[in-house]
Amino acid sequence: MEYVSTRGAAPTLDFAGVTLAGLASDGGLYVPREWPRFSEAEIAAMAGLPYAELAARVMQPFVGDSLSPEKLRELTAQAYGRFAHTAVTPLVQLDQQHWLVELFHGPTLAFKDVALQLLGLLFEEFLARGGDPLTIVGATSGDTGSAAIDAVAGRARIDIFMLHPKGRVSDVQRRQMTTVRAPNVHNIAVSGTFDDAQATVKRMFNDPAMTGRFAIGAVNSINWARLMAQVVYYFAAALQLGAPGRKVAFAVPTGNFGDVFAGYVAAQMGLPIERLIVATNVNDILHRALTSGDYSAGTVTPTAAPSMDIQVSSNFERLLFDLGGRDGQAMAAQMAGFESTKAMQLTNAQREGAAKLFSSARADADQMTQALRWAWENTGELLDPHTAIGLHAAREAGIAAHIPVVTLATAHPAKFRDAVERATGQRPMLPTRIGDLFERDEHFIELPGYYAAIAEYVAAHAVPRG
Ligand SMILES: *Cc1c(COP(=O)(O)O)cnc(C)c1O
Repeated sequence: MEYVSTRGAAPTLDFAGVTLAGLASDGGLYVPREWPRFSEAEIAAMAGLPYAELAARVMQPFVGDSLSPEKLRELTAQAYGRFAHTAVTPLVQLDQQHWLVELFHGPTLAFKDVALQLLGLLFEEFLARGGDPLTIVGATSGDTGSAAIDAVAGRARIDIFMLHPKGRVSDVQRRQMTTVRAPNVHNIAVSGTFDDAQATVKRMFNDPAMTGRFAIGAVNSINWARLMAQVVYYFAAALQLGAPGRKVAFAVPTGNFGDVFAGYVAAQMGLPIERLIVATNVNDILHRALTSGDYSAGTVTPTAAPSMDIQVSSNFERLLFDLGGRDGQAMAAQMAGFESTKAMQLTNAQREGAAKLFSSARADADQMTQALRWAWENTGELLDPHTAIGLHAAREAGIAAHIPVVTLATAHPAKFRDAVERATGQRPMLPTRIGDLFERDEHFIELPGYYAAIAEYVAAHAVPRG
């Protein structure tokens, strides 16, 4: 499979190339040149496969010649063998129509593990073939950082520099990053918000002084391999509920539009998805874009669902590119406009294309709390705040009663136990696999939020090219 940039001017890459790349050199994001498509019979034949085998089957067309089918199966078996549930992403029924797909049974308790456990192994495999050592630089509002650090700690030829906004991640999230002891893990607490940290990272991807010396890679969802791994659980859930003979709808708590874009990819591949319901909190740029075509960023309001406190959703560009006829030049112009004014209007083709598959809803703090309470009181399930926002949107979406609606449960409730306790009076217990998280020593350095300080630190600690 060949990958092209959404802005049309970067060299094409194969799967190994996009896995190790950060942003494309023209500032765009890589997407497959075309969507592979399974026939109905091929999808039907996937029913009942163990998760790791299903994953290899769904991902093989994207991987192409970069890995043999045997190697891919070996890596998926290894990645998903670390999950605490043998189904990897089990379904839980809430009522006649509503279901959860639990994506939080990995080592760090959020759905990010599903992709990052595999990505760590892919990095190792491709780096062992030669080339430059990899310098991963990322910013996290909590969940990506812990999942990425767990996935790459101790691996050869990789250093990871993870920036988190000081004082703005939960204690569980912070400790999951800072208690990992490995010489290749560098935790950096920076003053400022997540958006400030993210801007620093983006600047580093575009700074020739850094990219010339270091091979800088990405672990956030601009990395294609992450989205690819997330396509699999849409197949797993829909197959269990009767696909391909029956349509299924999904409600997806959304920040960077990565998880829900994976659902769009599943639909392009032939999975019969009735609707993708984009759930946002009060940081609702995506809800506004999908309902009125207005994609304009405001300032971020902190909420109890911090992984969705995002105003600029990187992966939305991938959708707009696909719906706009895959015209890289037009996309580059549209994004240049957005980058200078922080606002843009979707074209008619983009709006109408999106409306065919997507709908959206926004939940404020009260609606989030109501959904959390409804689930606890009526089903005995404790949800995390992100999942509760998804469930709110699922229940509001007006999907026909015979179509199952699956809400993606993106984090374990214990990861956000203060917010869950405030809403329900119940304090979720940390699963035993977390072990002695609160006894271990923390290791991180603090840096001021400006670019030069962070670039200097990375340059002093990373292994250069060559
Ligand atoms: C990252 C995250 C999200 C948002 O996912 P995107 O891929 O950025 O849309 C939602 N919920 C939780 C718990 C997360 O960690």
